[in-house]
Amino acid sequence: MIIRSGGCLCGKVTYSVRDAPLRIGLCHCVDCRKESGSSFVTFGIWPRNAFESSGEVRFFRGRGFCPDCGSRVFNESEGDEVEIRVGSLDMAPSDLEPTYEIWVKRRENWLRALPIDQHEQDRG
Ligand SMILES: [Zn+2]
Ligand SMILES: [Zn+2]
Repeated sequence: MIIRSGGCLCGKVTYSVRDAPLRIGLCHCVDCRKESGSSFVTFGIWPRNAFESSGEVRFFRGRGFCPDCGSRVFNESEGDEVEIRVGSLDMAPSDLEPTYEIWVKRRENWLRALPIDQHEQDRG
């Protein structure tokens, strides 16, 4: 069993995910750019029952963040999945690699497409 731990910058929000993710992706959409202040985000999807968290999290349009330091950590789960921000995991580099990119029509011109599935917008 593999347990990966993560959390926010100030440490008040912590979480863990167990075993392998269902999938890892990159998103270049406008909302992900705005929420992260970065050019894209790397996200990981785990089964809900493989996820635990502690500490107060606030949500804006389903995107969870630490109310003290503002770090994005994970999203409100939809159904039986939870989405975490791979950059909020404690260990770097991780052994997690994306297998698809979405919203590539918003990708910065200086970024090259990875040799993985490409989607103009959301994964169909
Ligand atoms: Zn924090
Ligand atoms: Zn996005």
